[in-house]
Amino acid sequence: MTSLRSMDSVTKVNFLKAYGDHVPVIYPEVVLCVEVYNIKKINQVKAQEMLVLGCQFLTELRDKIYCVTDQVMKKAGQYDPSGYFLIENVSCNDLRDSKAIDYSEPILDWFRNSKDEAIAKWESIVARELQKKQKLSLGSTISSQLPSFSAVEMSKTHFFDLRLRIWGGYLYCHQRNCKHLVVIRDMRLIHPNDAQNRRVYPIVTFQLKERFKKCSVCKIYRAEKVTLDDKWTKKNPCYFYKNCYYLLHYANEEQGCIDRKLEFSSFSSDICR
Ligand SMILES: [Zn+2]
Ligand SMILES: [Zn+2]
Repeated sequence: MTSLRSMDSVTKVNFLKAYGDHVPVIYPEVVLCVEVYNIKKINQVKAQEMLVLGCQFLTELRDKIYCVTDQVMKKAGQYDPSGYFLIENVSCNDLRDSKAIDYSEPILDWFRNSKDEAIAKWESIVARELQKKQKLSLGSTISSQLPSFSAVEMSKTHFFDLRLRIWGGYLYCHQRNCKHLVVIRDMRLIHPNDAQNRRVYPIVTFQLKERFKKCSVCKIYRAEKVTLDDKWTKKNPCYFYKNCYYLLHYANEEQGCIDRKLEFSSFSSDICR
């Protein structure tokens, strides 16, 4: 666990400067260790780990979740402020922005209006899970009764308002269909060695380092080319996404290089990984 104590004094000062005044934590307080995973095709990759307080709103966690999809959608002018956590049977919707959509509404409507269909669907999911569990010889612990789902507003819901399970896997969905697994890995009382300033939470204790270089121009897309001693940029080496590279170095992308490339004395290469 990272606490302010483990930071050097310079980092500590910068950290506190960035978060402004000290707001003392009120005892007794609960600290939750939350993991956020990126869902890949075959596996899940832990992207972040954070310490969040029981008294905090779920939106405070959402605002600390870093996902590149947010940046891409912003750049494309299609940023969607909507998002939700599905925790146990509760959909926690972020409706702070007037343009945000309540994603849970059509689902809850479906439960109300097509109850038989919903029950049949639920039973088939339960049967599938039971089969899996029987294969693992863990016995049957899943109820076949359709759970009652409800919706709350993320910005009005504290962590302590919810029923949470340690190692329970919950869903975070944003930008329409970008999904992440959220796991409550640990829950404990706050300790004097923890940061005592309410404002510094959620504290990011782990952040996945990107394995690939990003384009130095747009800072969004993965770099595909690199240049050395490039007269068109101050960065050396400089990494480029294909389009950004052509925009900078080619007068006309269709015809290939005409003007600039003749003057382009530097070295460029595709990134081989
Ligand atoms: Zn995402
Ligand atoms: Zn770029």
